[in-house]
Parts: sequence; structure tokens; C-alpha cells
Amino acid sequence: MPIKVLEKEIVSRIAAGEVVERPASVVKELVENSLDAGSSQISIEVRGGGVGMVRVMDNGVGIPSGEVELAFDRYATSKIGSLEDLESIKSLGFRGEALPSIAAVAQVDIVTCAVGESVGSYLSLKDGIVENKGSQGRSQGTTVTVRNLFRKVPARLKFLKSPATENSHIANVVSQYALAFPEVKFALFIDGRVVLRTPGNGQLIDSVIQVYGLEIAQNMLEIRGEGKEWESRAAASSPPVTGMIGSPAVSRSNRSYLSFFVNRRWITSRLLAWAVEEAYHGLLMPGKHPVAIINISLLPNEVDVNIHPTKTEVKFQNEHAVIGAVQKAIRRTLIELAPAPKIEEVATIYGAPSEPRQVLWTSAGSGGSPTCSPPVAGQTPTVSLPVLRILGQLSSSYIIAEGPDGLYLIDQHAAHERILFEQVINQRSHQGIEVQGLLEPVAFEVNPKQDETLRAHYENLAEFGFSIEPFGDRTYLVRAVPVLLHQKDWVGVVRELLDSLSGGDKGDWIEKIAISIACHSAVRAGQELTDDEMRELIRQLEQVAIPHTCPHGRPTMIRLSSGQLRREFGRS
Ligand code: ADP
Ligand code: MG
Repeated sequence: MPIKVLEKEIVSRIAAGEVVERPASVVKELVENSLDAGSSQISIEVRGGGVGMVRVMDNGVGIPSGEVELAFDRYATSKIGSLEDLESIKSLGFRGEALPSIAAVAQVDIVTCAVGESVGSYLSLKDGIVENKGSQGRSQGTTVTVRNLFRKVPARLKFLKSPATENSHIANVVSQYALAFPEVKFALFIDGRVVLRTPGNGQLIDSVIQVYGLEIAQNMLEIRGEGKEWESRAAASSPPVTGMIGSPAVSRSNRSYLSFFVNRRWITSRLLAWAVEEAYHGLLMPGKHPVAIINISLLPNEVDVNIHPTKTEVKFQNEHAVIGAVQKAIRRTLIELAPAPKIEEVATIYGAPSEPRQVLWTSAGSGGSPTCSPPVAGQTPTVSLPVLRILGQLSSSYIIAEGPDGLYLIDQHAAHERILFEQVINQRSHQGIEVQGLLEPVAFEVNPKQDETLRAHYENLAEFGFSIEPFGDRTYLVRAVPVLLHQKDWVGVVRELLDSLSGGDKGDWIEKIAISIACHSAVRAGQELTDDEMRELIRQLEQVAIPHTCPHGRPTMIRLSSGQLRREFGRS
């Protein structure tokens, strides 16, 4: 279809609005255009966090020379032409808004050569005004270069995060489309480094290897269709769901490994995230989330993509059917393909291996027999605990103690977390984190988003005792870890940090790293403790500055006062 400006009637029906919020939005719109143009190769080059430059190059159908300028008019599109088309959108774009919106806030150069044309054309625009145009040689396809994004919009610039954060958003967008289009060869370069490269051979698993690394890829299960019902779409009552899901052995500590696509459009949906997690119910440890890449194929009239300017949200005509189909597909895949997962197995993978008991209660890293840890220096206990007498342990999770003013139930994990958190913060500020060298350096693979975060925050991790150095393509060597984490799941800690720490200032980082180390090295609920261990824990809790809450802010203890007890038992 040639590019035409949409009629007013159609414009009034589209969810028009701002599509360029940050550099990653530019990348998303340009990549979507390249995909709509049927490209089999898309290369994305980014500099200066995307504000300096974003360049997307493809080998798609190109824009006919007579239409290049028109493509930058608002609501000019070749993808829909009538109201009926709006009801059955098959392309990723359809509003004719991206190019003009980008051109309005940046400097844009486009070089394109359409199928059947022997010579290409170029056009340069600055702040939406054409500055230069002409013909130029180019093989079939389109290259769009966006420079100095938001230079004339300081209010926007101010809201952008650090280049590392913007880069990680960009890497995420490209990763998502690489997962949705395994038949397309993607290459992403950030400041001259190759951040992602997919083979474009049509195999989703090969894209997964590139995006998430081997460890996850080896644990991915292909979603199975439902036999005949699946083959005849017309007869099917539920929409086909395809993709891959992680076996319960590769759960993650946040939801950023859940990808949803509707007819291969990347969307966000809390409802679908919930549905997927429900399907894993009972298979993952609390607080863990699955890895899933899910594409739902719907007929155009079964989904409305025209409800949000950035097209990342959609409305399903029959939400129940979609959710049901997704859950069924996941359950079936887990049951058929995963070796019956047991909660215990999951626990050994993610929980701490059992350790020599005495290590639990020593001050960080001193090893050997229980020792006294010094109170947090420079912080006088502000809300001190009374002296407590230990009565016993409840459900292997809570310590029951008696104080002068009543009965205390202490959550052993939360309390230990608080103790370790303060120790770690204190040791860091005195450069006293005890470090354990690993016998052999451990190679550690990261995804493109984590890569950006790690690059920007080596030093913060080093201050906490992690010695991590780059080792080639998105791989790092870990040579040392904090003693506290030595025999624990330190890989999980680093992953969790890289996933949660894309932005934020240094203060945030310090606190989050300390929390994560404390959380992963603290004694777990469900672990039986000896009397000595309980006594040592309480003694250390008495020393901390803020004994009543864990670093996440949850209570470490519940007190039942003698007065409350009397009232409960009806005594005056
Ligand atoms: P939309 O994608 O909603 O149509 P855009 O502003 O993103 O709107 O693009 C306008 C038009 O420019 C598209 O409809 C398409 O015809 C053309 N176009 C943009 N990018 C490309 C590309 N990479 N290859 C081919 N044509 C493109
Ligand atoms: Mg578009």
C-alpha cells in the first residue's frame, strides 16, 4: 500500500499520543518499522545512551522515493487505509506517528531504497523540518539515524536516567523482539560493543541462548500444542499459544523474564503475568518467578491493539479464553516435559546448601567457633531489646523467648537478616568486608540488560567483596565473593542485583546490595536451631541499631505483653 495521510475520521479513532518517551521508545518504533517492512536483518547501533545516536538499518522493502517525505507527515502510513483495516491490524505500526514524532524532537537522517528501484533516496530533517534531500545509492532497505534526541526538549532530557540505564532499556527492547522474531537476524551495538547478535535461523531456542544465555536455554521447554485442536484453528475454542517456558529449575527473583507477545507484538500484561505464575503454582519457591516467552496468536477481531499510544497494552475480546489457554498450555508443558519437579529439588537449587552450624552465628567471615560480633560502630542502639530468655523454637522458624515485659516470638530469618545487614553496611564503610577467593574463577554469563548494569556498577560490587572482571562476550569471571556468601547461592545474589539495580543512585545500590547479601546468607525459616545458636542470635540482635524490623521493613518479632496475656485469659 502506498503511504497516505489517514483521513480525519480514522485519526479520531486511533489512540494517538506521545510515543517517544525515551531512547528505547525510538529503538522500539524503528525496529517495529523494520519488522513491518519484512526485513530479515536488522542492525541497531546506539551511542551515548541513545541520546547521542540511534541508528536502525534493515534490508526490508524500503520506501519508494516519492513517498519518503510523506512518511514524516503526521498520520501518514502505508499500513492501514480504512476504518475496516483498523479492525484487523496485522502490522506492528498503523498510526503513522512514529517518524514525525521522532523527527520533532531530534535530528533524523533516512536513506532508503525500495524494492524495484535502482537508486535510493535520502532525507535529512532537523526539528521536524526538511533540511536536505536527494538520491543516494543503497541496497534495498532502510537506514534511519536519529541524533541529539531531546536536545531542544530539556524537560525530557531531565527525566532520562543514566546512559547505562537507558542502554539497558534499549537492550531489553531489542532482546524482546529478538525473542519474538527468531527468523530475523538482529545485531545490537552499544558504544561500539556487540551486545546482542541472533542467528535469525527461525529457532526460538537459538534466540534464547543469545538473549538469556546457556543456563536458561538448557532449561527451557517448548510449549506443546494440543494435537488436532491446534491444527484446525477454526475448530479450536482456545487461541493457540506458542513459545517456551523455563522448567522450575530456572526461576528468577523478579518478573523481568516474562515476555508476552500477541501476534508477535510485544505487550505488557499484569493479567498474563499473573496467569503464568498461577500455572507454576506450587512448583517455585515463594518469591521466585518463572521464565517464559509466550506468543498468543489471535484473529484480528479477537484483540484490540488500538487502546494505548505506545501499543504495549492490548485488550482481549475474550480475556477468560486467553488466560485459560495460556495456563493450560503451560501446565501441559510442565507436566509432559518437565521431570516431575519436587519442591525439595527446587529448594536445593536456590536455598543455601546446609552448612557447618557454627558458621551461622559468627560475625561475618570470622569462621570457626561462635564469636562475639562487635556492635555496629558509630551507631548506638536506639531501640534496644530487653534481655530475653530463650524458651524454645516454634515450627523451626520462630524463636520463643521471655522478657521482663512479656512473650516474644522472633522470626529467625528476619532477625538474622537485620543482624547481617548492619554488619555488612558497617564493614563496607570501614573497607572491612571479608572476601573469599574462589578456588577457580567461575564464568558468569549475563543477558544484554544485565551486561549494561554490571558495566556501570563493578565498583559498587567490588566494595562488597565481589571480584568480577569481564571475560569476553557477555561473560564475566568471578574470582572472589564476600565470605558471607561463599557457600551460598551467590550467583543468585548477583543476578538478583543486576536485575533490580538498573537505575537508582549510589545510596540505593549500597542498601540493595547489603540487603541482598544479608537475605541470602541469613538462616532460613524451617531450619532447626540449637539452644546455643538461638542464644547467640538473640544476643547479636540485642546489639543492632534497629532490632525490630528486617532491612526490607518487615517485623522481626511480635511481642505479647503480660497485660495482653492477662486480658486474653480473662484475668484482671
Ligand atoms: P506506521 O508504522 O504507524 O505506519 P511510522 O511513522 O512509523 O508509521 O512510519 C510511516 C511509514 O513509513 C510506514 O507506514 C512505512 O510505509 C514507512 N516506513 C517507515 N519505516 C520503514 C522501514 N524501515 N522500511 C520501510 N518502510 C518504512
Ligand atoms: Mg511505525
